[in-house]
Amino acid sequence: MRVIEVQTRSREELVDITGEIQKAVTESGVKEGICYLFVPHTTAGITINETWDPSVRKDIAEALHKVAPPGSHYHHTEGNADAHIKTTVVGNSTFVFVSNGKLVLGTWQGIYLAEFDGPRSRRVLVHVEAF
Ligand code: ZN
Repeated sequence: MRVIEVQTRSREELVDITGEIQKAVTESGVKEGICYLFVPHTTAGITINETWDPSVRKDIAEALHKVAPPGSHYHHTEGNADAHIKTTVVGNSTFVFVSNGKLVLGTWQGIYLAEFDGPRSRRVLVHVEAF
């Protein structure tokens, strides 16, 4: 297992980590297989979506604000209840198939670390397994 450190820069941010994950796949030497990704945090997750048009990440952030508005009344009084909810919506794990040593992603797809309570140092656990 590899650990990728991601330093986020604002409270909420979708960070494109596709390049770092591809680097981990390349270093693993696996040509045909699967890349498992897990984010061990309760206020940050991981998701795959369009990374080409930056307005997509803006729309995702705005839609999640409607689901869990910051500053609303919550039972969890640490001040980051909205971040916990957004993380659950987005999820903490995903996987991508690997072929020819490359992540098999759709044309517009990329991998985002989804920060909801930054800025912080986050970790992404990566395991690449050969078929
Ligand atoms: Zn909390």
